Amino acid sequence: MIDSIQDIQKILLKWFGENGRHWIPWKLKKNGSIPRPGESISPYEIWIAEVMLQQTQLKVVIPYWEKWIKSFPSLNDLAEAKEQNVLLLWQGLGYYSRAKRIYQSSKLLLKFVENNKSFNPLSWPLEMDQWMSLPGIGRNTAGSIISSAFDLPTPILDGNVKRIFSRLIANENTKGKNLKRLWELSSLFISTDSPRNINQALMDFGAMVCTPKKPNCFTCPLQNHCVAYMKYDPINFPKKEVKKSKPHEEIGIGLIFNKSGELLIDQRLESSSMGGMWEFPGGKKTSEETIEETIEREIREELGIIVRTGKRLISFDHLYTHKKLSFTVHICIWESGQPQSLASQKFLWVFPDQLFNFPFPAANTKIISALHKHLGIENKKP
Ligand code: SF4
Repeated sequence: MIDSIQDIQKILLKWFGENGRHWIPWKLKKNGSIPRPGESISPYEIWIAEVMLQQTQLKVVIPYWEKWIKSFPSLNDLAEAKEQNVLLLWQGLGYYSRAKRIYQSSKLLLKFVENNKSFNPLSWPLEMDQWMSLPGIGRNTAGSIISSAFDLPTPILDGNVKRIFSRLIANENTKGKNLKRLWELSSLFISTDSPRNINQALMDFGAMVCTPKKPNCFTCPLQNHCVAYMKYDPINFPKKEVKKSKPHEEIGIGLIFNKSGELLIDQRLESSSMGGMWEFPGGKKTSEETIEETIEREIREELGIIVRTGKRLISFDHLYTHKKLSFTVHICIWESGQPQSLASQKFLWVFPDQLFNFPFPAANTKIISALHKHLGIENKKP
């Protein structure tokens, strides 16, 4: 296969010219045209998109990215923003640590760009290790940013590329020395006159032709180079990992109102997952208690107040990558004590129609929608 890399590059570039996704907004110049070979385009827009794409599909990312660029059109705007506003824009995309890392990186990048202005017209980092020193940027993301923005030969190896290479060489898994081999292949592929295009061609080809479950082998221009196809077994390369069943937890949540009709919310500790985001008080049910007892205990431990559970508002399941949570939400009656932040950064009393001004994890936004419906408030979900 190595001997035929140049042939495969030619086929892929031709296919890309005719069929590629030439409309992806962050891959275009500001005026909407396709950049010429060697021409640089804005690394800021590409960096944001690449981090969003780390765990999320392109069609989901596009509206978030557009909203982001409208709110923070430049690196300066982002670095000077409040972290809460950054988290708020990320709300619904999941994996919130990505938003926090983007925000941390924006300050480092701003320093870099300012220090570098005098001797580098492009100002932004052009080297892999510079990008990889930023929080949340790995080898694939760094390679993709540099090749997309500056048309420089930095290899990539995202899920699409791993799959194409694995099928071309009938590679069974993407770990250890096999992973190293796939990176070597990517480094060979990138040596063309069009590094930006070959990387994009690989990503588009994986998304449109050599797809995970139903590759279009019969019309694929790489048939004659593909060992998995010759073995009549493309979808088994690479072999799928057997998925472990997800642990399941039951979560009780309490909605506590004060006399003014405001609702109690608290902010997660920075050191916890989704640190800095807001939530309704509550927690994990133990095997010895009912969900009502869970809510009353958790609120006592979290806020130091005594509540009694009232009407159940909603129950629903929420799937995370590593676990499944079943939420039960009750409206609570506040009986005694004054709230204190015993297990959170701070708490706030907020009118229900203002809840969407705060960044909440996705599961909590379902609760807000149910509450708005219950109270007859128009749902102004962002
Ligand atoms: S022949 Fe099938 S498996 Fe091989 S590269 Fe083409 S689409 Fe993928």
